[in-house]
Amino acid sequence: EAIVADYERHIGRAAARLAGQTGQPVEVRSEGALVWDEEDRSYLDVGGYGVFILGHRHPAVLDAVRRQLDRHPLATRSLLSDELAVAARRLAAAAPEGLERVYFACTGAEAVEAALKLARAGGRRRVITMANGFHGKTLGALSVTDRLAFQAPFRPLLPDITTVPFGDAEALREALAADGGKACVILEPVQGEGGVRIPPPGYLREVAAACGGAGAMLILDEIQTGLGRLGGWWGCDAEGVRPDLLLTGKGLGGGCVPVSAVVATEAAFAPLDRNPRLHSSTFSGYPLGMAAVTATLETIEREDIPARAQLLGKRLYEHVVEASHAAGPELVREVRGRGLLIGVELSHPRVAGRFMRELLARRVIAAHSLGTDTVVRFTPPAMLSDAEVDWFAEAVGEAMAQL
Ligand code: PLP
Repeated sequence: EAIVADYERHIGRAAARLAGQTGQPVEVRSEGALVWDEEDRSYLDVGGYGVFILGHRHPAVLDAVRRQLDRHPLATRSLLSDELAVAARRLAAAAPEGLERVYFACTGAEAVEAALKLARAGGRRRVITMANGFHGKTLGALSVTDRLAFQAPFRPLLPDITTVPFGDAEALREALAADGGKACVILEPVQGEGGVRIPPPGYLREVAAACGGAGAMLILDEIQTGLGRLGGWWGCDAEGVRPDLLLTGKGLGGGCVPVSAVVATEAAFAPLDRNPRLHSSTFSGYPLGMAAVTATLETIEREDIPARAQLLGKRLYEHVVEASHAAGPELVREVRGRGLLIGVELSHPRVAGRFMRELLARRVIAAHSLGTDTVVRFTPPAMLSDAEVDWFAEAVGEAMAQL
């Protein structure tokens, strides 16, 4: 009650009201796929907005972060930083070939801002973005986030934005025909917050070819899809596509600290190379975050997270599809998934809300899609035990039967 009162007074009335109505628990600690509340009940976290591909507090990341915390968590930024150099080298090695230049930030939206600024500084003033795309909520990122409810109170936003249907390469080619050489294109390989929308096979390749043909800059937002989640290191690996700028975040700090990054080709990064003051931030490349990045990338490689994501994703997807048959197509419209990004499209926002509550009653934490009210999303860690998979399958089955 004291926490709800603090929320009510200082944080948000809507959140307090919801917590009051649903008796929402308070999370106090975590490990792996589990989160515990203050009464020491455990929950299976298959939500977490895509941050916990390595689970909570992965020992290798925790160890690196602890050591860094004891040594030098934040830098003066007036001297060189070994942690920054190593993390940048490792991230460049993990990125698609030819993307060597790195700018670190803390949040996804900040990486999007940095990318849009790089594009503009490189002469690309027009931005082509996708219907239903989500790139964050700072003003620049919001300008390319196609959700009227989020944008409307803040207009006018950035000018010269063209939105085309996601998955429609011809529409993109038409948009680029106008003045492609002065444009950049930003999209997600699979739309996460937009409700786990998967484009037709070959689409990303066509997008890259269209951008190449028109001289447009391609920005791939892999903040949710990267680092193994879709069953490859990056979503674009499935089609052998190399963007000019690749954005990563969420799980980049190993589920321990916030870090994001822009990884760029030499040409795309040139404005910042010429003048580093064009874009900077106090905590960019902070040693604590960099230690987490290096440990995270090493762990993804050592534990073969992409392959595990593919296998586990298939198992979980099959459980969700099977459970959906019990609820029927009037309630569960579609189940979509790639790797460990799985979305359940319900018939109505009320049904989606009920599904989330029924899951929580079975101590399973899922996530809404921010861009749509009818899709419930699962973004589990890549290392669920068999018992946790059973827990998930049973809870989803029972929750769907209650819809
Ligand atoms: N881009 C994508 C694809 C995202 O899914 C998100 C967050 O959900 C963002 C950008 C924004 O990231 P952040 O919330 O860390 O600012």
